[in-house]
Amino acid sequence: MAELSGRVALVTGGGRGIGRAVALSLAAAGADVAVAARSDKELAETVEAIRLTGRRGEAVRCDVGDRQQVDAMVARVRKALGDPLILVNNAGVAASAKLTETTDEMWDGMLRINATGAFYCTRAILPLMRQARWGRVVSIASVASKVGGPYLAAYAASKHALLGLTRAVAAEVASQGITVNAVCPGYVDTAMTDASTANISAKTGRSPQEARAVLEHFSPQGRLMTAAEVAALTTFLCSGAAEGINGQGLVLDGGAVQS
Ligand code: NDP
Repeated sequence: MAELSGRVALVTGGGRGIGRAVALSLAAAGADVAVAARSDKELAETVEAIRLTGRRGEAVRCDVGDRQQVDAMVARVRKALGDPLILVNNAGVAASAKLTETTDEMWDGMLRINATGAFYCTRAILPLMRQARWGRVVSIASVASKVGGPYLAAYAASKHALLGLTRAVAAEVASQGITVNAVCPGYVDTAMTDASTANISAKTGRSPQEARAVLEHFSPQGRLMTAAEVAALTTFLCSGAAEGINGQGLVLDGGAVQS
């Protein structure tokens, strides 16, 4: 178990799914945890669960694609909990479409939230990490950060950008006690994957069970990954034991993507 007592973490997209699991895992390791997203109700539920672990929690409504909201979020977390020296860039959106049917809005939205949002958050918090000479940035990227796939142009472009950001910042801060890494999951059993299943059903006429099986078979393990697995790896990357791991995009997909 990682020992994160005395640390403050900020998890974007912490209201549900992977972000919620990460927030609770960091709290179980001893960190006080702020969660940010756009849905107040989900954030409030996560904070209640964080507080049940005995740690402090703070909910902040924020659209990570809006720089002013990100700056206000960081100020609010500092005031409520202290400097967040652990940042988990998890907030993200997904949609699939043929390239010729990918609208400007889809393209801009995925780039803005998945890539620019992580840039805004990392840029706002990095000076605090530098000052402390300690910091951990973990971005929840995707196997789509490493490989392309049909109908995923905007999502894959945004996630490749996120991994590029990760690698470049990791190189920039390597000598300053800060590590910057990405976790690159395959399909994870969350609401986002439920939406992908529904989309496959609607477009192909497959039953929901058949559509889910399609996604399960992207992994040679024949299953979806779990949010708990992503959270455990993320928490490990925040620990002292992971100090030497920097600039990596660690794939968590049962072995389909090997790079
Ligand atoms: P969910 O849709 O279940 O959760 C996404 C979270 O991000 C929600 O809390 C959502 O809250 C928040 N969010 C979305 N847009 C914004 C925004 N503009 N500002 C702040 N918060 C935002 O997805 P998952 O938990 O499945 O995914 C989490 C991350 O993991 C994403 O980055 C995703 O791309 C990545 N990932 C997911 C995989 C999967 O199969 N599920 C596989 C690989 C990577 P709200 O809508 O209230 O703002």
